[in-house]
Amino acid sequence: MLMLQYLLDVMDRYPDLPREVVLKESILLHGISFSDEALKASYQEKAYFLFTFDPDDPERVKARRKVIPQEIRVSGGPLGLRPTVIQSRHSSSSPFKVELQDSLKLFVGKEAIANVEFVPRPSYYGKSLSNGSRVEEVAPAIYWGETADVTAYRICEYWNVNQQCKFCDINENFKAWGYIRKGIGAVVPKELVAEAIELASKDSNVKRYLITGGTIRDGVKEAEFYLQYMRQVEERVSSLPARLNTQALRVEVLPKFYEAGVDYYHPNLEVWDERLFSLISPGKSQNVGRDEWIRRTVEAVRVFGVGNVSPNFVAGIEMAYSPDFPYGFRRIEDAVKSTAEGIEYLMSRDVTPKFDTWGLEPRSWFGIHGVSLPPLEYYLELYRVYRDLRREYGMPWPRGLGDPGPGVSKVPASGFMDLEG
Ligand code: SF4
Repeated sequence: MLMLQYLLDVMDRYPDLPREVVLKESILLHGISFSDEALKASYQEKAYFLFTFDPDDPERVKARRKVIPQEIRVSGGPLGLRPTVIQSRHSSSSPFKVELQDSLKLFVGKEAIANVEFVPRPSYYGKSLSNGSRVEEVAPAIYWGETADVTAYRICEYWNVNQQCKFCDINENFKAWGYIRKGIGAVVPKELVAEAIELASKDSNVKRYLITGGTIRDGVKEAEFYLQYMRQVEERVSSLPARLNTQALRVEVLPKFYEAGVDYYHPNLEVWDERLFSLISPGKSQNVGRDEWIRRTVEAVRVFGVGNVSPNFVAGIEMAYSPDFPYGFRRIEDAVKSTAEGIEYLMSRDVTPKFDTWGLEPRSWFGIHGVSLPPLEYYLELYRVYRDLRREYGMPWPRGLGDPGPGVSKVPASGFMDLEG
């Protein structure tokens, strides 16, 4: 079936879910391409992040004359879409393309199905840090300008011992893009991070900041490493809420993070199924262990509060499958049942999990080993279950991700918060 017909069919089959979510998840899965004409517009260019998120190889993306926008927002068109923010993932072979036809439009094949805006350049961009780097090299904006995002540690030690997560391309991202960022190495100096967040905080659109990075295998050292960033930033900017991504740290150390200013904590579990966790995230499995990871996550609620502990799942990796990796679930219902079990376990203990839609990056282990992506329907089934469990348990949306709802959410890499409450 042609892509557009297929999308319309899926929208009809899921009448209780916003059409915007169907389109958004499909674009996140397939990536998107941009004509050269479209890229003549002015916008916020895609910056350096933890992963590339692109289905295309970095060399192909680099060959573009201009860097693509960080995010797009689709709206209107024949489907009357509400404004929906979507992370740009570059794919030359995507069925989705942004072209300039009087104005920017989203095409599926030959059909224009939505109007497109590119995310505007934040007002703090272009300012210089004390080492001469531009602020956006250290604290670029995501969530349509609402979150200043810092990748403090741009590599991950699990890669050194062949224990990297199989969906992840962090070290390959650094090899491809990190070296060309002048004045910034694998470890971004904490003083620069504090300077950058201070500059970003002067932009009234910026509502929070996020500190993230690769893992330091020794959990004590990792805690100390990220604590120093928090303290340094909060000395200069105490008014901006902070999100923190780390491994599931020992519970005893978490109050120090709370006192240092962390509001929202993300010990990302990635996948719920026990066997898949050990296969897909061997570093996390062997260095912390799944049961301990979950125990620490649940305990963290006592420190940060309900709604403020939100481990991420890379939605869809539980369906990863290829001859080299014949372990993922083959049926949507089995995959959703497994992850739903995790959502329920966590929500019944006051944890609010969140999602990123899996992007199959070619230099990740999964990309190299040719695994297949899940069908679109998997995401719709999963988010439907999430919505229902959230209602059943009376849980808030994960805090720290901004306002939820169709036409409202700015979460770029998943449609789960574009659902009705
Ligand atoms: S912990 Fe896993 S996902 Fe995170 S940076 Fe390391 S390898 Fe990548």
